[in-house]
Amino acid sequence: MSKMISLGQLTNQCGNKLSRNDQSSHTTKCSLGLNEAVNKNKLTIVLSEEDIPSRFKNTPIELLLRYHNLRQTFDKYDKAKILVGMCMDNRKHLHIPDNFAYIIRSAGGNLRYSEFKVSYSISVGDVEAIVLIGHNNCGMTNLISKEQKFVNGLVQKCGWEEETAKQHFRSYLPMFEIGNEIDFVIGEAKRLREKYKSMLVVPLFYNVEDNLLYIVEED
Ligand SMILES: [Zn+2]
Repeated sequence: MSKMISLGQLTNQCGNKLSRNDQSSHTTKCSLGLNEAVNKNKLTIVLSEEDIPSRFKNTPIELLLRYHNLRQTFDKYDKAKILVGMCMDNRKHLHIPDNFAYIIRSAGGNLRYSEFKVSYSISVGDVEAIVLIGHNNCGMTNLISKEQKFVNGLVQKCGWEEETAKQHFRSYLPMFEIGNEIDFVIGEAKRLREKYKSMLVVPLFYNVEDNLLYIVEED
């Protein structure tokens, strides 16, 4: 039986425990609003074998969930089963066997600029599925709010001219801003399904508070 996230299980990206009274105010303050995801039943936690949706049975997605969330004993692999696209964020670490996955880590788990690597993993690496893993509190949301820190860091630590640093930030901003973490990963999955027809492409969500993977319920 699947369990939707309860409000007590998650903190939002402001780092506060959510209560029902908080919901509307946090929705306006935080880019993702995990409370919003909860309300819309967009995320489902996997805590037992029965929580794994039947559509993932006998796929590498099932294996990933079993290894990472359920701590199933590792099998031996001599080739990769899956391509994982996930954020470079230091708080994320997958519990998976050696050789099980190709992993592309990029800011926000954005694979728009990694397509050669995706194509390689499919055609040469022979993976059977692609999983895109978004996470809460991602640095690639509301990037504009980090502009001053970004610019100051380059000026102070690396001696950049302020104007050069600012231009650097602004030229990359549209490429790296992901907006809402869940919607982004759903959109990326759809885009990749169009491009790599017949590949199983699945969005998942990593909660940095409990280090577990969640099912993303698509519309
Ligand atoms: Zn991130």
